[in-house]
Amino acid sequence: MTANDQALDPAAHAGDDAVEQRPRPDRETGASAPQCCFICQSRDIALHRSAVSFSIYRCAACNLLWVGEEVTTEELAAFYGEDYYESESEFGYLGLEYDRMEPLHRRNARALLKACEKIMPLRRRRVLDVGCGYGFFLHEARETFGAEVVGVEISQHAQTYARQTLGLDVTLGDLLDTDIATDSVDLVSMIGTIEHFVRPDLVVAEAARVLKPGGLLLVTTLDIRGPIRLYKLKPPEHLFYFDHDNCCRLLEGFGFDCQPPRFLFWRYDVLDIAVRLCDFFGLRRMRRPFLALQRKTGVVPALIPTNEMRIIARKR
Ligand SMILES: [Zn+2]
Repeated sequence: MTANDQALDPAAHAGDDAVEQRPRPDRETGASAPQCCFICQSRDIALHRSAVSFSIYRCAACNLLWVGEEVTTEELAAFYGEDYYESESEFGYLGLEYDRMEPLHRRNARALLKACEKIMPLRRRRVLDVGCGYGFFLHEARETFGAEVVGVEISQHAQTYARQTLGLDVTLGDLLDTDIATDSVDLVSMIGTIEHFVRPDLVVAEAARVLKPGGLLLVTTLDIRGPIRLYKLKPPEHLFYFDHDNCCRLLEGFGFDCQPPRFLFWRYDVLDIAVRLCDFFGLRRMRRPFLALQRKTGVVPALIPTNEMRIIARKR
């Protein structure tokens, strides 16, 4: 069994062995390039493009794009500091001041919770958010549905906010380092986070372990073959670039039944959209006037179509 075979074999992720498997397959073998696709194990893969000194590979069989180089959890933890949320760097929130957009984050969270509620009543359920950021989704789940909520967050800055400002039970680190009991959670969410994980397969396997049978997994992520195909390759922020088919294939490999992926609409501030478009087209200096105007006008919400999908999957 190759390392990539193990990546899709749930049995290979049981217990402490899962942590042992975390280094990337290509580095385990010493090869300079991946040997096969991370999801479908096809060997029909090729270098797609280089971006920010990383190599992006593409699988011709399933269309997955992923970063070939190893990125450690420690490197990522350093990457997601306060600057990621608050500065005007090219990564993260582009100077849009994450906490100032709190009302919009909460409305988006409620929309996602309502979508899950249509499939499974959420009242007094146990909810785990993986990569919970400041914790707005969990806070909404607790306030709206009386849910018992827990989170995991790799950014110490965000985890501190979630614990101290919102009073949430959020563990610093990686889901694989926590000791959440098997079959104990009703809803696991990964909202715009699965593309950030070093090993999304292991995180999905862990989600399958902690979920009760019939429990839900909520995933939102970029769909590179969705209706809106505008996206940037942003390693080391985004390490995987899925489409609706290969993302469902990944989840189904760990015992989930996926509902048809849905095109994701999201509430943004109207000037937030302008800032993101400036960033997308490389007009970084033009972001400044929009950011300045935004601080004067406050938040003006607009529901817009995104380049992302929403998948709700049920554990068999
Ligand atoms: Zn593939």
